[in-house]
Amino acid sequence: MEVVAIIKKKGGTHMFFNRKGAEEKPEEVLMSMEVYACNSCNGWMRKDFATDDLLCPLCGDQTSVEMRELPQISN
Ligand SMILES: [Zn+2]
Repeated sequence: MEVVAIIKKKGGTHMFFNRKGAEEKPEEVLMSMEVYACNSCNGWMRKDFATDDLLCPLCGDQTSVEMRELPQISN
């Protein structure tokens, strides 16, 4: 493989290799989806996994719907 040849020649293989690996993560597909974000703390939950009463799972306060870019979950 050509990439392997370049790594060997430059010698600074480790960083190059790590960065390359991070870029190739296939599951990092961001999707815009609705979430319920807490009005009081940083808690939030995906709409699909929201509690029945739509209250914050962390502090129990009210939440508001907003859109966020999140990694897609594959079941
Ligand atoms: Zn909260």
